Amino acid sequence: RAHTGQGAVSVYQEGEDERHLREINISNYLHDALDNDKFTLFFQPKYCLKQKRVTQVEALLRWTHEELGFISPEEFIPIAEQSGNIGRLTQWVFRQVLRQIRIWQDMELNIGIAMNLSAADLLNENLPHQFISYLREQRIDTSYLTLEITESAVMLDPERALESLNILRDFGIKLAIDDYGTGYSSLAQIKRFPVDELKIDKSFVLRLDQNADDAIIVRSTIELGHNLGLKVVAEGVENQESVKILESLGCDTLQGYYISRPVPAEAFEKWVVDYEL
Ligand code: C2E
Ligand code: CA
Ligand code: CA
Ligand code: CA
Repeated sequence: RAHTGQGAVSVYQEGEDERHLREINISNYLHDALDNDKFTLFFQPKYCLKQKRVTQVEALLRWTHEELGFISPEEFIPIAEQSGNIGRLTQWVFRQVLRQIRIWQDMELNIGIAMNLSAADLLNENLPHQFISYLREQRIDTSYLTLEITESAVMLDPERALESLNILRDFGIKLAIDDYGTGYSSLAQIKRFPVDELKIDKSFVLRLDQNADDAIIVRSTIELGHNLGLKVVAEGVENQESVKILESLGCDTLQGYYISRPVPAEAFEKWVVDYEL
């Protein structure tokens, strides 16, 4: 530690150890949180420009731990994947989402819900069967359910993913490619997958009003998406200027803080009745 070089190394290692410890803690707490229903879902509106209304929401996991406080899904989802808990977590989300679809169906709110699948879910051969058998029991309209999958998750094992996605799609579930533009796949590859919707990653949308390159990427993605018969969603819409640009480019659906942050179900129900863009 007397030498600067070594000191730098050991400081780095201390940071590593701390991070490692936090990961171990989180993966242990995940078990308990699943057993005791400590997770909640928030819902973020997706606004359809053509219908001029919110037609769908995206379900997003929220978790506040007694000791660690708020833990972002960006942090705990990868840990759940590594520790083998993602399957249970996904089933939990799925059941909550179906419950919520049913509640809103009964309220005649006419709102669909999109949920996220992780890469490991797409590699799980049992998932389509698990989803479908539970859906049958619930007797809900499957067209209210969308699954969001990232292109990088699909590309881990495209044949395996294609098999699962075809089964789910045949059952009437909608599919969306999430974070589009951040992976390496081309739209030509996407074309092989039975998807309904393309979500342009928020990194291209956040500064759309200021950055000409982003605007070009967004414009060409919308055009190509439409040429493939897909609905195009922009996420990360944070200001009115971006709304105007996306409208002029023919984007189908908007999602972002400008419309609403993710909120609990009851808050969404109150907000949506008289929302105007
Ligand atoms: P994602 O699927 O890309 O979800 C969109 C993220 O962007 C959400 O972050 C949302 O709160 C955020 N966002 C939405 N609009 C805006 C905006 O206008 N500006 C900015 N700066 N951000 C915006 P969140 O909720 O923290 O989720 C992060 C990621 O965690 C998600 O990214 C998804 O990959 C993962 N995740 C969340 N819930 C689930 C889940 O139930 N299952 C799985 N597998 N992953 C989940
Ligand atoms: Ca998503
Ligand atoms: Ca996304
Ligand atoms: Ca993301």
